[in-house]
Amino acid sequence: MEDSPPTFLFSFDFDGTLVDEPPHPAIDPRLNPFLESVRAQGGIWAVNTGRTLFQTLDGLAQHQLKPLPDFIMAKERELYAPGPFNRWVDLGDWNQRCQKEHRRFLRTHKKFFKRMRQFLENETNAQWIEGHEETPGVIATSEEEMGRVCVFIEDETRNDDVLSYQRNSIYLRFSHAAYTKGSVLLELARHLGLTRDQICVAGDNHNDLSMLCPTVAAYRVCPANAIPEVQTLVNAHPGGLIGTGRASFGLLDGIQRLLSAEREEPS
Ligand SMILES: [Mg+2]
Repeated sequence: MEDSPPTFLFSFDFDGTLVDEPPHPAIDPRLNPFLESVRAQGGIWAVNTGRTLFQTLDGLAQHQLKPLPDFIMAKERELYAPGPFNRWVDLGDWNQRCQKEHRRFLRTHKKFFKRMRQFLENETNAQWIEGHEETPGVIATSEEEMGRVCVFIEDETRNDDVLSYQRNSIYLRFSHAAYTKGSVLLELARHLGLTRDQICVAGDNHNDLSMLCPTVAAYRVCPANAIPEVQTLVNAHPGGLIGTGRASFGLLDGIQRLLSAEREEPS
């Protein structure tokens, strides 16, 4: 990191926003030059993804994204900065607080998770996933089935302010309501001393909704492959734009148009 504070932060979702799936081209060839230009102008960039830290680094290497991000927000809630010896390390005590709250969250929601498993077994073909030190999740067999799963959760937890979940198409992971892509991004901005007017975010799926809010970032972009809910939110307020093209093609188009509209606007 440079000594001088950053002037602007770009925070991008990974899958479906930075990188596309086959048969589509994975990344726009203009993406790396754009990331270089962000750096050259005193800005920084971050990935804000549902992937784990390891999966994110793997994806960055696989698609040869350069320069590497200045920060990584993983699992929709963890915050990492580059440390010594090419390692990524916790930024402040956010991750510790997050882990502690999630351990408590798991303990206090055992009964709900049991009901959830019963519902999945009896009423769906969806799969329950649970790992060591990990919040449980669901993999549905279709978007429609995941829609039904979400209705069940909403009904069961109407008076629960703590239980939340992050949904990405047919995947869902339970989480503490205080930890989302939006809240982890706000924590990073606080750490960097940046305000919403200095932040641009981009995402394409349900789990991006919490960061695609005008209260989080003044500039909000989604690619053309974004789900309807994301497109609606992005379109709902000034400073939001749906880019033409899928994933990074739409991302770069949207950013270009947003920033040129900004320059043209009389101050
Ligand atoms: Mg995505």
